[in-house]
Amino acid sequence: MLQYLHMAAKDLETIVALCKRRGFLFPGSEIYGGFGGTWDYGPLGVELKRNIKEAWWNDMVHRRDDVVGLDAAIMMNPKVWEASGHVESFADPLVECKTCHERIRADQEDVIKLHEEGHRTNKEEVSWTAPRNFNLLVKAFVGVVEEAERPIYLRGEITQGVYVNFRNVVDSVHPKIPFGIAQVGKAFRNEITPGNFTFRSREFEQMELQYFVKPDEAEGKKWFAYWKQARMDWYVSLGMGKEHLRFREHAPDERAHYAKEAWDIEYHSPFGWKEFEGIHHRADWDLSRHQKFSGKDLTYTDQESGEQYTPWGIETSGGADRATLFFLLDAYDEEGGGDDRRVVLRLHPRIAPLKVAIFPLLANKPALIEKAQSIYKTLKHEFVTAWDARGNIGKRYRSQDEIGTPFCVTVDFDTLSDNTVTMRDRDTMKQERIKIDELVRYLHDRLS
Ligand code: ATP
Repeated sequence: MLQYLHMAAKDLETIVALCKRRGFLFPGSEIYGGFGGTWDYGPLGVELKRNIKEAWWNDMVHRRDDVVGLDAAIMMNPKVWEASGHVESFADPLVECKTCHERIRADQEDVIKLHEEGHRTNKEEVSWTAPRNFNLLVKAFVGVVEEAERPIYLRGEITQGVYVNFRNVVDSVHPKIPFGIAQVGKAFRNEITPGNFTFRSREFEQMELQYFVKPDEAEGKKWFAYWKQARMDWYVSLGMGKEHLRFREHAPDERAHYAKEAWDIEYHSPFGWKEFEGIHHRADWDLSRHQKFSGKDLTYTDQESGEQYTPWGIETSGGADRATLFFLLDAYDEEGGGDDRRVVLRLHPRIAPLKVAIFPLLANKPALIEKAQSIYKTLKHEFVTAWDARGNIGKRYRSQDEIGTPFCVTVDFDTLSDNTVTMRDRDTMKQERIKIDELVRYLHDRLS
C-alpha cells in the first residue's frame, strides 16, 4: 500500500507557478494578454484532468448497473433556459464601486474587503451601488441573419441536456427506476469576479449524475443520503485527505431555485473552505417544467405496477477543474531543505499524468540507450510513459517527483548482463531490482 501524507500546499502561488513551469496550466490566450476567467491545460494538465474525468466515468457509469451516459449539445434551444428557470433566476448580486467602477459579486466579502483596503491605502473614498441581480448565462449568436437577432445561451450547467433527453433515454434503453444518467462536459458562466486560479472560471467542466427515483419522501431521503456519502468517499478513494474535506448544508435562502435540499462537498483550500461538488435534491422541478414548456409527456411508467409518475432527480454536480485544482493542492508536498529539498506531488496512481518514467543511467553509452529504448517501447504500449536521458539520475528523479510520476525505472550496466532494472518508488524513494520480464505485471499491480 502506498502511504499518502496530506500536506496541502501552503499557498496558491506555489501551485500556480508549478503548473506554469511544468506544463499543467496556462492562462487562456496568454500571448494576447489573456482572457479573464479562462485557462488552458498544458501537456501534463490535460492528462491529469482526463484521468480524473475517466476515473469518474468508470466509477459512476461503467462499474454500475443503474447508470447510463449521455453527451448533449452545448448550444440548446433558448426555451430550455426559460423552462429551467435560468433566464429568470440564474443570477448573482452585483455591486459597483462608485470610485473606480469595478464590478464585484456582493456576496464575496473577501474580494470586497480587499478592494476597499486598496482605495483606503490610496486615501480614496470607497462606496458601492446598491446590489442588483446580474444574470450569469453567456449569450451567443448563431445562424443566418434573421435568427442571429435572437441570442441563444451557452449552457450554464450541463444538467439540462439530461432532462431534455429524459424521454429519449427511457424510450431507447428502458432503464428501471431507480436509475441515473451521467454526463461530463463544458459549462459557461459570466462570473462577475473570476479568480483563485481555475477555481472560478467563466468556462469550466462539470461531471454530473442525475439519479431518478420514485417521487416519495423516504426514497428521496434514502438516495440523497446514499449519493452524498458516495461522492465524498470517491474523493477520499482517490487520495484526497479526509481532514481537508467536509460537508456543508445550504441554508434555505441560499439554495438554488430548483433545490429542495442541497449540500456542498468543500475542500480546505489556501483561500478557505470552498465548494467543488454539490449534491442537490431537484425533486420534479426540471421534468415538470420541461413538460409544461414543451408540452411533451415526461412521465415515467413502471412496467410492473403500471404506476405513472414524474420521477424526482437527485443530482451530484462536481467540477472537473475545481477537482483538478484541489487534487493538485492536496498532493503537493515539500521535504527536506537546501540541496536535499524535494517537491513531490503525491497524486494517486490512477490520476497521475505519467505513470512511469524510464532512464538510461548514462546518456552517452549506446548500449544503455538501446536497452532502455526497447523497454520504453514495451512500457509505452501499456502505460503513459516518460523518457528522460538528461542530467544526473538524482535530478531526473526529482523532476518526476515534482509532477507526480509514481515510478521510475533505471537501466544501468547490470541490466546488460542480468536483465534487471532499478525500480524507484516516488513516495518511499525505495529502490529495488526487478526483472525486465516482470516489469509490466509489477507496474499493473502497483498502479491499479
Ligand atoms: P459557486 O457558489 O462557487 O458559484 P455554484 O453553487 O453556483 O458555485 P453549482 O451550480 O452547484 O455551483 O455547480 C456545480 C459545480 O460546478 C461546482 O461545485 C463547481 O465544482 C463547478 N463550478 C460552478 N461554477 C464554476 C466556475 N465558475 N468555475 C469552475 N467551476 C465551477
